Parts: sequence; C-alpha cells; structure tokens
Amino acid sequence: METGMRNQEPVMTPVQSLQRKAVAEVTAEPPRFKVYTERHLDRIPQLQLLTAEQRFAMRVVARVLPFRVNQYVLDELIDWREVPDDPLFRLVFPQAGMLAEADFDQMADALRSGDDARIQATVADIRHRLNPHPAGQQQLNVPHLDGEPLDGVQHKYRETLLFFPSQGQVCHSYCTFCFRWAQFIGDKDLRFSAREAEHLHRYLQQHPAISDLLVTGGDPMVMKTSHLAAYLEPLLQPDFEHVQTIRIGTKSLSFWPQRYVSDADADDLLRLLEKLVRAGKHVALMAHVNHWRELETPVVREAIRRLRDAGVVIRTQAPLLNHINNDPAVWARMWREQVSLGMVPYYLFVERDTGARHYFEVPLARAWEVYREAMQRVSGLGRTARGPSMSAGPGKVEVQGVTEVAGEKVFVLRFIQARNPDWVQRPFFARYDEKATWLDQLRPAFGESKFFFEDEYAAMCRGEAPVRFTA
Ligand SMILES: *Cc1c(COP(=O)(O)O)cnc(C)c1O
Repeated sequence: METGMRNQEPVMTPVQSLQRKAVAEVTAEPPRFKVYTERHLDRIPQLQLLTAEQRFAMRVVARVLPFRVNQYVLDELIDWREVPDDPLFRLVFPQAGMLAEADFDQMADALRSGDDARIQATVADIRHRLNPHPAGQQQLNVPHLDGEPLDGVQHKYRETLLFFPSQGQVCHSYCTFCFRWAQFIGDKDLRFSAREAEHLHRYLQQHPAISDLLVTGGDPMVMKTSHLAAYLEPLLQPDFEHVQTIRIGTKSLSFWPQRYVSDADADDLLRLLEKLVRAGKHVALMAHVNHWRELETPVVREAIRRLRDAGVVIRTQAPLLNHINNDPAVWARMWREQVSLGMVPYYLFVERDTGARHYFEVPLARAWEVYREAMQRVSGLGRTARGPSMSAGPGKVEVQGVTEVAGEKVFVLRFIQARNPDWVQRPFFARYDEKATWLDQLRPAFGESKFFFEDEYAAMCRGEAPVRFTA
C-alpha cells in the first residue's frame, strides 16, 4: 500500500525514517504535542489510505467510544503499510467490530439521519449497555474522610491507595480497549485543585497501613510537573513515612515519550522523581505497554534511559487483547525487550468486561496458553509478570492453570489481591469452560454451589461485612 503522506521525501526504510525523525526530535526543535479527536478524524492525512466505508465505520464507533490520537502515534508507532491490521492502528483507531452489529447499525442509521436528538439518544443508549462501570468501581471503593465520601480516590486493597488527580483524567491518546473509557466522555474539569491535594494527604496521614500510593487516571503524566509536585513533594515529610512506594500508572512512555525528553518541563519532572528516590521512596512507573513495537523508537529508548538514571523503576503491564497481542511470540519478545531495557514485567491482565470487550476478549483458557507459552520462551528475569489476572469485584484473580483433579477438568485459580487480605494465595477451583472469558462465567468445581469467598463478598456488597481497612 502507498503511504502517500511521505511522497515528497526520498524513499527510506521504515527504520531509517524512524531514526531520522527521532534524531531530529531529540536534537532540533522539541516537537509540539498535537492531538486529534473524533471531530478531527477527517484531518488525519493518513486516513486517506482507507476506503470511504472504513472511514464512515470509524466515525460511527468514535461517536460511542472515546477517540483521541496524537501526531507521534500517527507518525512513529502505526505502520500505515499494514493498516487496518496493524496492531498499533487497532490500539487507537475505532474499528467496525468494536460495537455489536446491531449497535453499529443503529448508530450508523442515526448518523445518516443527521437528526441530532436521535444521535444523542442512540449514543447514550449504546453506552449504557456497555457496562460503563465494571467491578463495582463506583459503589464499593469510595473511601471516606471525616465521614464524607472522598472523590478521586479508591481504596480497595489495604496497602494501596489509588488516586485520580482531576487534571490527569485524559491521556496522550486513547486506547480502544480502555476499561476506563466511560470516564473520558463528557466535559471534565481538568483544573488543579488544592483541596484535592489536601484531601489526599489527610487520608494518607490517617491510614498508616497504606504503603503504596498509585497515582493513576487517565494518565497523570499529562499533568504539568508543578502539579505533580504539589501532590508528591509533601510526601517527603515525616508523617508520610509509611508511604514507601509511589507508583505512577501511565501510557506516556508509549504515546508521548517526549514527556521525559524534550517537553518544556521534562527536566523538572526527572528532578522531581529523583528527589523522591533520593529521599528513600521507591518510585515506580507502571508503564502500560501492549506491544513491543511501542518500545522501538529512539525517543522512547531515551525516555527509558533518563527515567532509570533518575532511579525510577519501570514496571510494565497490559491486557491480553485479541487482534493486538493474542500471540505468545508477541509477549515473549515484549518481555525480553523490556528486561534488556531494564524494565520489570509485572502483570498480564485479562481484558475487562466493559466497552468493546467482545472485540478484544480472549477465552481464559487461551489467555493461560498465551501466558504459559510466552513464559516458556523467556529467561527467569522475564517471568516476573503474573497473570492472566482478572481485576474483578472481589479482587485480582489469577488463572494459574488448567488441570485435572479427581477426574474433573478444572481451572486452578488464586487471588493475587483481594478485598479481604485473607483470601490471597488460597488455591481454588472452577469447572473448566473453554468459552469463559471472565470470573462471573465460572462455576465452582467438584459440584460445590459457591466459591469460598462468595458469601463474604456478597455481604460486603450489601454493606454488612466490613471492608476492614477503609472504615
Ligand atoms: C491492581 C490494583 C492495585 C494494586 O495492586 P498490587 O497487587 O499491589 O499491584 C490497587 N488497587 C486496585 C483497585 C487495583 O486494581
């Protein structure tokens, strides 16, 4: 396929072209962050490669699911010769198959009608059916401060507090599979709020069992360094000594590595992180990496080098996704490259039960196969990733394997994390089901009527059993 967009340039191999661009990026003018959303789909020059029908399909899906892509992803990550099959294209661009056929047709008809009220109603209707808030995120995880529910914070596991700073509630680009897709819809107030910082700090002071703060989003790395500093620098004071680890969940290494290299406050950011490290905090960048191709450009290599120089540990995690990385060779290569770059593989997740799940989901049995085969192909240093792990209501449940016990084919499962810490690391068993894709589709093995945690979890959901550590 013709690339079209580069026809005025001499023919280069893709690698040469990437190298030339990245060298230009590092040495010359810092690239400006430029982003396209659903309203600007027609202004993305590369999309002229697609047929009119493909572009219309994209507009249909982009009305329902969030869409955002930046110039670096367009120019450096996507291989336009492989579109529409390119995994990084599928990672950010809406595809017809991401909506159920009936939903797609309903949305397409509404768009063709040009009737605004009908379009809005259809969008709302379809979104509502896509399980926008999976795993009881909204009801069960909201902590309280001085008796009042606290926004922007989740406390599900005793040791770790999740913090969603309001200016970090977008990303440099959106992933089509994102389980937080619903929070990107509608207008958000992205301003810094001193009250939010104060609440975070008070909550941490009141909970000495919290050893890990996990700043997440969206993507906290879209924030200015000065805002990140307002949250993190106070943690150097003695009353936050129990907060030993500061994790930052981010896709920025993949989508905008310039954040660590050439952005106006990139050096300030690295100095901030280094200051935390020097003061004895473990600073972990929880990098979301779906495919080894995200780690190939010179600018991401430079970003990784600079982060490691600052003393930051980069841990990696991603879900297993059909059409993107449903292949043990992709995971094995990704984990090997991560290890050689000094990154630590952390989790392989099961795609959650929300949004475009039917496009991306993979049966648990297949997920385990991919995990196992990938593990077998890497050295021990690459085997630090746990999984396949489902972040479900009761906790993170890992599929440890498929085997036969007393003549019955079963899944062996365990909690990696749980609402009740006592559930962690107890093996339990589900009837084998070759089609099951999520915990709620599994049934206990050996004729039992429920899993060992079910009664207590149900009581927690009814507000009867204590969610011990948040009280
Ligand atoms: C995964 C997760 C954490 C962190 O758990 P670790 O096992 O410490 O990595 C914290 N909170 C929530 C809601 C999570 O899903």
